[in-house]
Amino acid sequence: MSDRECIFCAIIEGHAPAEVVFEDGDTLAFMDINPANPGHTLVIPKRHIQDIYGMDEDTAAAVMGTVVRVAGAIKRALQPEGMNLVQSNERAGGQDVFHFHMHIIPRWYGDGLRLARPPEVRRTMPIKEAAGRIRREVAKVRTIAAAYTDICCGKK
Ligand code: AMP
Ligand code: ZN
Repeated sequence: MSDRECIFCAIIEGHAPAEVVFEDGDTLAFMDINPANPGHTLVIPKRHIQDIYGMDEDTAAAVMGTVVRVAGAIKRALQPEGMNLVQSNERAGGQDVFHFHMHIIPRWYGDGLRLARPPEVRRTMPIKEAAGRIRREVAKVRTIAAAYTDICCGKK
């Protein structure tokens, strides 16, 4: 499944340029066009999946396998002092490209990158309350994709 409007689908299909570093049957890894740091790489499923809510477990495993492989290659190739994996969902979560992607961002001491927002703009909830709500939902369904289907269909 691909999306005609999606820039990452265009890259997969060879209709848009990309600096590809790894490819297998299910996934593609390529350099971010606007890198936060040298070596900033994106890993995507070849199937057009919008975000984490549409993800299935097999594709997630394939994407994570490629993330592990490419992260190791970046470590050996560029010798960063640290590494962040970042994945954003929905506009409020900072997602700009609506084809699921994992950012692999090499880090160096003093690089000045800030991935977290300052505490004053955070919403708050007691940890126990948040944990209780999540536990009730996570017990109901086996996969996030199934949970999303339930939400879409108006089930509890
Ligand atoms: P996000 O904000 O998590 O959706 O991240 C989208 C990322 O995609 C940004 O870091 C962009 O720099 C990157 N990006 C957008 N278009 C392209 C492209 N054509 N090739 C490579 N990276 C891209
Ligand atoms: Zn796409």
